[in-house]
Amino acid sequence: MKYSKEETSRLNIQTKKFLKENSISDKKELEELRATIRFHEWQYYVHDNPLISDYEFDQLFKLLERAEHLHPEWITPDSPTQRVSSDLVDVFKSVEHLSPMLSLENSYNADDLNDFDARVKKLCALSEGDELSYFAEPKFDGGSIALIYENDFLVRAATRGDGAKGEEITSNARTIRSVPLKAAFSDYGIGKVELRGEAVISKAMFQKINENRETDGLALLANPRNAATGVLRVKDASETSSRGLDVFIFQVSYVEDLKGENAMFKQKSHADWMKILDILGFKVALHERKVCKNIDQVIQYINQWVEKRDHYKYEIDGVVVKVNELALQEKCGYTSHHPRWAVAHKFQAKQATSVLLNVEFQVGKIGSITPVAKIEPVQLAGVTVSSISLHNEDFITSRDIRYGDQVLVERAGDVIPYIVKAFPELRTGKEKPIHFPKHCPVCKTTLIREEDEAAWRCPNFMCEAQIIQRLIHHVSKDAMDIDGLGKSLIERFFELGWLKNMADIYRLDYKAISNLEGMGEKSAEKLRLSVEKAKKNPIHRLLHGLCIHHLGKKVSKLIAEHLRYLPDLKDWPLERYTSIKDVGPVVGKNIIAFFEDKKNVKMLEEMEELGVNMKQTSEDKPKEIAADAPLAGKTILFTGTLKELDRKEAQELAERAGAKNLSSVSSNLNILVVGEDAGSKLAKARALGSVEIWTEQEFLQKIR
Ligand SMILES: [Zn+2]
Repeated sequence: MKYSKEETSRLNIQTKKFLKENSISDKKELEELRATIRFHEWQYYVHDNPLISDYEFDQLFKLLERAEHLHPEWITPDSPTQRVSSDLVDVFKSVEHLSPMLSLENSYNADDLNDFDARVKKLCALSEGDELSYFAEPKFDGGSIALIYENDFLVRAATRGDGAKGEEITSNARTIRSVPLKAAFSDYGIGKVELRGEAVISKAMFQKINENRETDGLALLANPRNAATGVLRVKDASETSSRGLDVFIFQVSYVEDLKGENAMFKQKSHADWMKILDILGFKVALHERKVCKNIDQVIQYINQWVEKRDHYKYEIDGVVVKVNELALQEKCGYTSHHPRWAVAHKFQAKQATSVLLNVEFQVGKIGSITPVAKIEPVQLAGVTVSSISLHNEDFITSRDIRYGDQVLVERAGDVIPYIVKAFPELRTGKEKPIHFPKHCPVCKTTLIREEDEAAWRCPNFMCEAQIIQRLIHHVSKDAMDIDGLGKSLIERFFELGWLKNMADIYRLDYKAISNLEGMGEKSAEKLRLSVEKAKKNPIHRLLHGLCIHHLGKKVSKLIAEHLRYLPDLKDWPLERYTSIKDVGPVVGKNIIAFFEDKKNVKMLEEMEELGVNMKQTSEDKPKEIAADAPLAGKTILFTGTLKELDRKEAQELAERAGAKNLSSVSSNLNILVVGEDAGSKLAKARALGSVEIWTEQEFLQKIR
């Protein structure tokens, strides 16, 4: 699977040919197309180094789908189209691992590691002065899985479970593009093998998932680990594929040759096996791992990762250290809980203890109730933390968190702080259980919780708290973008009875506003100008601003592209929505429900009378970038802290100038814009040599 130079160049020529001809004549050519797609999957998902654009990849994939549709008899089980099955899983089957998935002993400092080294040497009958080589690699923080390949095909995947038995998740694992459906183990005389890996979600992907969840009004996920383990166990496999899971393989745990004999010792070392897995197309920590000559080198390696971890693409919580030579591993053997030849060195977590003082139940714009813990302020990685989301009721009950509890708070990497656990052993007896309210804390309506949703919701559309949240959302940057009308003013106007719904924003009495304490004529006039400006907004902003459940920024844009006049949505049947690519039935149903409510229709009519634009503008239409736009056709990435722009603004400006924003450094990247404290991305771009490196100032000059 490892591609030679000749093979790479041949497949690149094939790529161009398929993209140009866009047709398949026979079975042999179809197999060529599959090989080409697998090559690009490998480049992208295993090596993080795409050679073609996402668009071109989609074209190849569509060509394959078309050809297989015409010739279903030519479909093979390892075809890239066969990753997603349409079967829904009801209950995951419990399956036994071929060899138990033991946990590792932990180490926390250099003393622990030196003790480990001394123990291992004793077990191996080496003297203290002898050198013993170790294999070290980052400890990824995700969900462990076991993959079984038989006769070169992936036949089973399972979660770790209790170590002896896990849950079968084969159809989910098949959708993960860094997991090969077929790998040529037979080339190495191997008939059956069990591999261990860690399924992880990158920090960037995690952020994206949470941004989408926020738009959709869903509870945010606590950390990338929870996100990854959650995705592994989704019941609809097609969802796994859309959520950017990667699997790093870190161990060969069981191996049989073609005759069914134990073949583990066909290789001399753990590193040898990992080399083979790399060649066979698996994602291994190729650039991260290191074979260390002795324990001092291991300690050095760990110290390097302590420095690097914040800038690394994935969340890691330590380094795993293994005796490299398999014969020596065998000599060390196992306790009933751990292998004696490995240790997990844990980084010092960014944790602190605090006391939970109170819980506030906040009402969101679609009525979701979020419990927010107020804790005694603590310092965590340079930030003072005094309030932390408790996400939902299940989070509180599963951790048995109580009022007055001592709690452990963690803030890892770029992740929002969260409560790891309470300390029941430190209770004094004065702690009280947290009862989730049965009624909305603001309007007292009985809360509801829909099946499959984690959050309790206040179903009262006229709930004051929701109205205020909706107004705040309506004027926010991503929606109508009314500068100068923030949360506190909205709350103030609401109290005064000036804002009852969104339409009221467009008929404010500026004379009265100028007489408010702390306002004056100048600020009233400023506000009037921003409201007037917002009236001319393209309709996708208004759509997003209506606060319809699941109608986020992206979907609003997609719908606006097909919409000449916003009130026309009144007459749209469900099929009209679902016929738009990437628009689902759920959002369609919610929009239909919105327009079935006469109050909403009337509100829109009033807005139109007040001068709010309802017609499609050129900004709503799919953008065609002029060929002479300053950054037309370029790819760009921002890293480090920018001085004048925030990240989002910078990306929007780049997009408007014709560039496409990328999320990582690869050979596809043209321009890297570097702010302060730029880390590994800058180093990687320099190493590539092909990337132009700009300062923020240079970027601003170029797009002007
Ligand atoms: Zn309410």
